[in-house]
Amino acid sequence: MFYNKGMDAISRLKLLSDQMSLEPAEEHCSARFPNPKPDSRSDQLFVHPAQMPGGRQILLLKTLLTSACERDCFYCPFRAGRDFRRATFKPQEFANLFVGLARSRAAEGIFLSSGVAGGGVRTQDQLLDTADILRHKLGFRGYIHLKIMPGAQKAQVERAMQLADRVSVNLEAPNTERLARLAPHKVFLEELLTPLRWVEEIRRSTPPSKAWNGRWPSTVTQFVAGGADESDLELLTTTSWLNKNVSLKRAYFSAFHPIPDTPLENKAAVDPLREHRLYQASFLLRDYGFDLEELPFTSAGNLPLPSDPKLAWAQINLAEKPLEINKAERRELLRIPGIGMKGVESILVARRQSKLRDLSALKKLGILADRAAPFLLLDGRRASYQMSLL
Ligand code: SF4
Repeated sequence: MFYNKGMDAISRLKLLSDQMSLEPAEEHCSARFPNPKPDSRSDQLFVHPAQMPGGRQILLLKTLLTSACERDCFYCPFRAGRDFRRATFKPQEFANLFVGLARSRAAEGIFLSSGVAGGGVRTQDQLLDTADILRHKLGFRGYIHLKIMPGAQKAQVERAMQLADRVSVNLEAPNTERLARLAPHKVFLEELLTPLRWVEEIRRSTPPSKAWNGRWPSTVTQFVAGGADESDLELLTTTSWLNKNVSLKRAYFSAFHPIPDTPLENKAAVDPLREHRLYQASFLLRDYGFDLEELPFTSAGNLPLPSDPKLAWAQINLAEKPLEINKAERRELLRIPGIGMKGVESILVARRQSKLRDLSALKKLGILADRAAPFLLLDGRRASYQMSLL
């Protein structure tokens, strides 16, 4: 391909991983790799310390197989006709290169995506061929996250699930109408939502022994938050539906920022705090037992930027009716600001031993006690009373 002219394989990989660096995927972390020092071959590669499901940390290479794309999504730097340096790999070449990096421990896992070149089906085949070579010819047993391309077929989705630890379909927008304002040639239901439904269907109907490691991959999606002037309510309505109906592991929200030389280049960037509030709200829906209707949306359907949605809910619902920390049920404890999922478990264990009577006891359990204090009772008394005794 002429795109690759003058670039060796490492230069192409650097370019493609650079171009992919802003796409959110796994949880970034730095505990095991506070200062990752890639070897000379991976210098400037965008290898991210990432946390795997289960807590293990690895160096994750995020890259595209090709940055060529025939589609014209309005927000995207890779859209057809945009003038920038592109690069491309063939599956065998890419797999050889990556497995070399994996053997030298410069990368331990991969998130592999692609521009659409030659249709979604052909592009998906290229991704599948790469993963198949990695797993079955080169014996790579590390983490693979594979993107499902718009328009991929069901058999391809099933094959991706057999090869990967995580699969993703980026919905980009919460519904058909909003997607039309971002990506007029993507079809929300047929091309994007249907593959997510197939993943769930296959997960439910086919034994996981078909997967490469005996476990079906997790599923994630991404939204471009604010790119289509959609509300947080629209984004979270779709997220909630996906949580319940396709076992979505996580929705990623990427605050819209304009890319030069795209149709949305003059649209204002979205405040990154909005992205943060969307994550907080999505965790309340997924992990904390909140219903969509309980979230503190404004009349315009957005989350207030100044306050954490859990705190805003508690100020309305718990400030006058604090919960007794020694008696509240698990699902109630989860609603108190400053108490996370681990904190709830610690409280349940600790109060079996003895009553929790002051904030210092909560602090010892890792609770953000000062944050929780206005919303709880400690053995029948307001925490503020207890605080005055400290
Ligand atoms: S199909 Fe993907 S890579 Fe191509 S323009 Fe759209 S978002 Fe960008």
